[in-house]
Amino acid sequence: MERLVIMYVFVLASFLIACTSGNKQKDESSSTIDTATQSESPAPSTDNAAVSNNIELTGNDQMKYNINLIRVKAGDKVTLTLKNIGTMPKEAMAHNFILLALGTDIEKFAMKAMVSKETDYIPSTEKSAVLAHTKLNGPGESDTIEFTAPKGEYDYICSFPGHYATMKGKLIAE
Ligand code: ZN
Repeated sequence: MERLVIMYVFVLASFLIACTSGNKQKDESSSTIDTATQSESPAPSTDNAAVSNNIELTGNDQMKYNINLIRVKAGDKVTLTLKNIGTMPKEAMAHNFILLALGTDIEKFAMKAMVSKETDYIPSTEKSAVLAHTKLNGPGESDTIEFTAPKGEYDYICSFPGHYATMKGKLIAE
């Protein structure tokens, strides 16, 4: 009988501890959410990119840029380097950076670029849509360009066939 009581107390104690720690966890998680909500509310935009006119961009074999949001100072010279950090052969996987003029239809541009292999996928008929671009980089290659961008939100893409769906970003000049 005595043993049973001890068992009972033990079980009860474990139960209480479980409840208490459960509540504690709940409190912690809800306060975490509160903090996150509070810190996000003043700036709902996802961009936390610092303004810099020196951009180090990479492209990889997974068809991804390392940066999808670039913030620069409008009207000032921007120096941008694109490096292909992949290892796949250039014929299968090459990357460029094309800064498109405001109002450019990305899909239309990319369709024309796709069939412009002889000009490294920069369509000769769409020159006015290209504000700046790097050369087409094979594995391990890089290219540095300079340009200035007036105030605005620009799209940039890699125009290698099939890449623009994942290799794209925004450049905000402010
Ligand atoms: Zn690419």
